[in-house]
Amino acid sequence: MTDQSTQLAVIGAGPGGYAAAFLAADLGLQVTLIDPEANPGGVCLYRGCIPSKTLLHAAHLTEAARNAGTWGLHFEGLSVDVDALRRHKERVVAQLTEGLGQLVKRRKIEHLRGRAVFADEKRLTIEEIGGQRQDLTFEQAIIATGSRATDLPFLAEGGTRIMNATAALELAEVPERLLVVGGGYIGLELGSVYAGLGAKVSLVEMTPHLLPGVDRDLVRFLHKRLESRFEEILLETTVEAVKDQKNGLKVGLKDRDGERQNRMFDKALVAVGRQPQSAGLNLEEIGVATDAHGFVRVDAQRRTSRAHIYAIGDVAGQPMLAHKASHEGRVAVEAISGRKVAYEPLAVPAVVFTDPEIAWAGLTETEAKTRGLDYEVARFPWGASSRAATLGTADGLTKLLVDPATETILGVGLVGPHAGELIAEGTLAVEMGANATDLGLTIHPHPTLSETLMEAAHVYHRNAAHYFTPRRKAKK
Ligand code: NAD
Repeated sequence: MTDQSTQLAVIGAGPGGYAAAFLAADLGLQVTLIDPEANPGGVCLYRGCIPSKTLLHAAHLTEAARNAGTWGLHFEGLSVDVDALRRHKERVVAQLTEGLGQLVKRRKIEHLRGRAVFADEKRLTIEEIGGQRQDLTFEQAIIATGSRATDLPFLAEGGTRIMNATAALELAEVPERLLVVGGGYIGLELGSVYAGLGAKVSLVEMTPHLLPGVDRDLVRFLHKRLESRFEEILLETTVEAVKDQKNGLKVGLKDRDGERQNRMFDKALVAVGRQPQSAGLNLEEIGVATDAHGFVRVDAQRRTSRAHIYAIGDVAGQPMLAHKASHEGRVAVEAISGRKVAYEPLAVPAVVFTDPEIAWAGLTETEAKTRGLDYEVARFPWGASSRAATLGTADGLTKLLVDPATETILGVGLVGPHAGELIAEGTLAVEMGANATDLGLTIHPHPTLSETLMEAAHVYHRNAAHYFTPRRKAKK
């Protein structure tokens, strides 16, 4: 056992941990970053965002090729070389993670490969990958250990036919019949990947809607598209039992009327949510409080109940999104450096990278209704967008939630191709406290999908050029 000390120990090198470590080094702190992988990246780069978006791009390409007839383009004999696609995905992951590894070296950050546990409130014990143990004394620490997939224990009966997102992203093969359990982010994104690569996908969601909680008028477009791409979408349905058989996976389903049926699949992907990874760190012993769901409790500076220990990212609360983690990492490090900062975003953008993409930022209509807030909605349908027409789609919508008293933009919702890129403007508008006039007076390039944000502001003022909206009735 060797002994070391550091000013700042960062536990976990995902988009939260490495962003924090990098900024801390830039600000002149001595930093030790602890993670089992050879390079930073975490779930996002190794087993999440990056491999899934790489595979989704491949699925989009196959879809585009299949639908190119409208343009007079016919691709005969489209085939998928799964091994080549997997290698390509692995190259993308390696390029990005190795790049981060270089940045660790350039910044002179100490990188320890292993798993850390708090020995006491000032010391970590690290089980290194090579089998050695090491003690690390720290002045401050950031917990950035992320989250793990929620298991449904009875699915263990399905043996190797059951995949979580990590296994699905390995892309060992494309099963003929795939069951997806869970109609959230991962179920829809990875279901789309496998459907694009030729699998017959059946999706089971226990609530009455895909993407529960997301505005229905946005999800409607995606649901319609997936109905033609997936074999079936079974809402208000649950999996009761599975059995790994010689001829496949026998699955017992129960629908909304209590009707039961058995079905056969080759594989099942389970994506029913994620849990914070706070267990096994000895947090309770050192006085770092967690809530009933296992999230580490933090204040506006992301400080835990021990003032010199911070927590960021998935382990510190919803939403479990990489960009929220990175932002929190910066806040925590600035607080450690004595700057006056707080984590207080008005808008954390969320993107579902399906086709069409769905994105939102700030207040959603669902939330506004639940909280009984006063709001007005301005919708600009993409059927009226010239750029959408050139892309061959009318399946899209841009909506603004506006405060009727001040015209302030409270939230932005988008569905359609590139919604994930467009939402950045909406996020900035909400963060800057822009109003509908600001957005409407900003010249947007033509012809682009970004014009739909400007035109939605014009819809609010009842003067959009490409979409007629009757004048508001004068208030008596
Ligand atoms: P999720 O919470 O998005 O969706 C889980 C879905 O499973 C829900 O619709 C839920 O109703 C359903 N469900 C739960 N138990 C079920 C059961 N027994 N049978 C059938 N359906 C069931 O979770 P996820 O898709 O696993 O993703 C986890 C997290 O990862 C997300 O919350 C998100 O924060 C993050 N993520 C983000 C992105 C992105 O930003 N594009 C992509 C993937 C994952």
